[in-house]
Amino acid sequence: MIELNFIKDNNKINLKANVCKNDILKNYMKFEYFTALCKEGCPNYNSNYTCPPNSPTFTEYVKDYKYSLVIAMYMNIPKNKNMSEVHEYLRIVLSDLLIPLERKINGLLTDGGRCIYCKECAYIDNLPCRFPEKMRFSMESMGIDLDSACKDILNYSMSWNSDNENSYCTVIGSVNFNNIDKYDLKEIILDII
Ligand code: SF4
Repeated sequence: MIELNFIKDNNKINLKANVCKNDILKNYMKFEYFTALCKEGCPNYNSNYTCPPNSPTFTEYVKDYKYSLVIAMYMNIPKNKNMSEVHEYLRIVLSDLLIPLERKINGLLTDGGRCIYCKECAYIDNLPCRFPEKMRFSMESMGIDLDSACKDILNYSMSWNSDNENSYCTVIGSVNFNNIDKYDLKEIILDII
C-alpha cells in the first residue's frame, strides 16, 4: 500500500494507492446493475462517449493488462467550497498524476469520471470524438463497484457527509499495467506530484 499526502494550491491532499490483479478487480464488476442505475438517475447517461451505455465492460477494457494500480485522492472540503467544486478540482489533480503515470509505466489509465476534455461531448451532436487518443473510461462507467473495491483494496471508505465539518471529497482512478517488478511505483508517483 502506498500512502502519501502533499500540499497543492494550499490544499492538503491525501493519496492511497495499491496494486490489484485485474482478475480480482473483475469480481467487483456489476455491469448491468450500474448501467441501469445510471440510466435511472444520472443526467449524463447517454450524453458522452465515455458514459453508459457507450462504455465497454471493465473486462474488455483491461484485457491486455494484468494489474491495476488503484488510486484514491481525497481532501477535506474547505468552508468556502462545495462538494462539486472540490470534486472538479480533484479530478484535475488526479489527471495530472494519471496521464504521466500511464506513460511512465506503459499502461492504460482509467479516469476519475466521464471525459471532460471538451465543454460538450461531440457525442451529443453525433460527431466523432475530438480527442480519441486522450479519451479514457472510468472504472464506474465500466461497471466496477468502486465503494466495495476501495474498501477491500485500499482499506478506504468513499462515504461522505456534506453536513459534517470533516466531510471530504474523493476521486478514484487507476493505471493498468504489466511487468510488476519493473517499477518502483511510489517513487514514480512522488516524482510526478
Ligand atoms: S474528448 Fe471530447 S468528444 Fe471525446 S469523449 Fe471526451 S468530451 Fe467527448
